[in-house]
Order: sequence, then C-alpha cells, then structure tokens
Amino acid sequence: EKAHMSVDREEKILVLVRLRPLNKKEIAANEATDWECINDTTIMYRNTLRQGSNIPTTYSFDRVYGGECPTRRVYEDGTKEIALSVVKGINCSIFAYGQTSSGKTYTMTGITELAVADIFDYIFQHEERAFSVKLSAIEIYNETIRDLLNSDGTSLRLRDDPEVHFKVHFFATEETLRDYNHLKELLSICQAQRKIGETWLNERSSRSHQIIKLTVESCVRELLGKENSTTLMASVSFIDLAGSERASQTMSGGGARLKEGCHINRSLLALGTVIRKLSKGRQGGHINFRDSKLTRILQPCLGGTARTAIVCTLSPARSHVELTKNTLSFASCAK
Ligand code: ADP
Ligand code: MG
Repeated sequence: EKAHMSVDREEKILVLVRLRPLNKKEIAANEATDWECINDTTIMYRNTLRQGSNIPTTYSFDRVYGGECPTRRVYEDGTKEIALSVVKGINCSIFAYGQTSSGKTYTMTGITELAVADIFDYIFQHEERAFSVKLSAIEIYNETIRDLLNSDGTSLRLRDDPEVHFKVHFFATEETLRDYNHLKELLSICQAQRKIGETWLNERSSRSHQIIKLTVESCVRELLGKENSTTLMASVSFIDLAGSERASQTMSGGGARLKEGCHINRSLLALGTVIRKLSKGRQGGHINFRDSKLTRILQPCLGGTARTAIVCTLSPARSHVELTKNTLSFASCAK
C-alpha cells in the first residue's frame, strides 16, 4: 500500500523573479538596463532615457533576486523547502519561465543540482528509513515526447491510467540515482541527447520543454518487506520551459505578428491557462489539463496537495523590455 502524506491547506504557487546580469555581449553593445530590485519582493522599472514625467513601475512577488544574487541563494531562499518536501511524500514542481537567453537553463540546472545534493544529505541523515531515488528525463518538442535517457529516438506515447483519473503513463527510462555524481553523469547524457541531429540547437531549446523528474520512495527500514510497512512516494519535477516568447502573439517593438514558422507553443499556452486558474483557487473554475502534453504530464504535481514554485527569469537588457514585461505579467497572474 502506498500512502501520500496530505497537506490540508491549499498551497499557493510560489512566484519568484530572477533578474540576470548584463552579459559581456550586451555590455560590449552598450546595452542599458532600466530594471532594479529595490527590496526582497519588489522589482522596479524606470526608463532612464525618457525625459519629463518618468514614473517608475513596481512589481511585487513572493521574492525577487537581482543580478548579483547567486543561484545558491535563489535555491535556498526560494525553492529548497519545496524541493525537499519530496522526501516527506509530497509531490512538487519547480519551473523556470522566461524568454530565451534570460537564464532558465542556468537557473534550473543549478537548482536541480543543489536539490539533489540536499536530498542525498537528507537520506544520509535518516538511516532509519530505506530510500530509493529514481530519475527520468524527457523533452517535449512540437507536442512530441522524447526520452532523454534512451537514445533510440522513438517518441513516447501518453496513456491514461485506468484507475487514477489524473495520472498518465509514458514509460520513460528510469535510472536509479546512486549519488550526486551520478546526477551529473545523467544530466550530461540528457544534454548530449538534446543535441543529436540538431543544427539549430538554440532554435530547439527555445521551443522545447525539458522535465527532469526525481521519484523518491521510502519506508521504515525495520519494516522493509513486511506487510504492515507503508511506503512514502512522491516526485519532484524540475521543468525548463520553452522560451516564453513562444507564448506571446506579438514580438517586441511594433506588435508585428510572429513570422511564419515561429508558431505559438501549445504546451506553454496551456500551462499558462492552468497556472492562472490554479492561482485563483476554487474560483478559477474547471481546469482543463488535457489541452497539452505538458499539462497532462504535470497534472499530478500541479494543484491539489502538490507544491509549486515558478522562477520567472528576466533579461535586464533595454532591448528586451517588452518580453520582460510579458514575463512579469505572466508572473503576476500566477501569484
Ligand atoms: P535560457 O535557458 O533562458 O535561454 P540560459 O540559461 O542559457 O538562458 O542563459 C543565457 C546565458 O546567460 C548563459 O550563458 C548563462 O550562463 C548566462 N546567465 C544566465 N543567468 C545568469 C545569472 N544569473 N548569472 C550569470 N550568468 C547568467
Ligand atoms: Mg535554455
């Protein structure tokens, strides 16, 4: 019998915002920034070019992190507690949302590594329980699911669980994770897997979602294999989303329609809708998770007793201001 620990209160989605620093290329191009984190929860926009009435706009979230803030701080302050709830049998998910080049992969990779290190620390300190940690990694690209731990290149099909209504199966490869170094090994396999046959890697990574999922199972060591033993099982998903420019109708500067070929990402749109509804709690109405592969897969770790954090990553560059504002309006809807 598998038991899930229950959380009584309805959890809100934790919304974190992270501004990256200007990069070398931007500095070389004399890019300016109009963004500033003015305290732990507020980010301010003020166009320093514009003369006259130049009223700053402020946006507030659960937490905001400025360009000088290291990933470790973002992780410990914003996401550690949520990620570690997996060892107590609570499903959770941590997302990175933002335009291409805003720091999603940088942030998510760091958070994943730090979380796995902490999970193994926890296991080490709790000898009274026997743990197993399994990892799977998939990519959703054009509504096709690929197993990043299996090189045969076939796509995975989603099948509904006949008994649990919100559960889907897709039989991705699961590796038993031995330790932190093993994670590094697996992550580099995934990375290589994403590159295979891709001339336009950037194009692909801006369009695809990557989900690294850890499933943690445990039971009291003394009761191992006995009838009265209860297993705690939950998963934590680390989701590096497609570039958020794939969710917006218009490109920055002038509102021209996206050119042909840069089609809107169905999974990203559906996720946006789900998250907006979840943030409204019971007033949000019926939530349709079935609109996309991403939302079907993530349903067990969104809503209900699951805990969720979204890290919205921002480019500080003035030339990115429209997409940055789009990301912030998504973030505002999520809180
Ligand atoms: P995305 O995945 O959103 O397209 P990346 O994570 O690849 O963006 O980041 C783009 C570049 O900026 C990378 O070279 C990355 O190392 C760098 N970068 C992103 N965020 C930060 C940060 N907070 N501090 C320093 N460098 C960063
Ligand atoms: Mg990326």
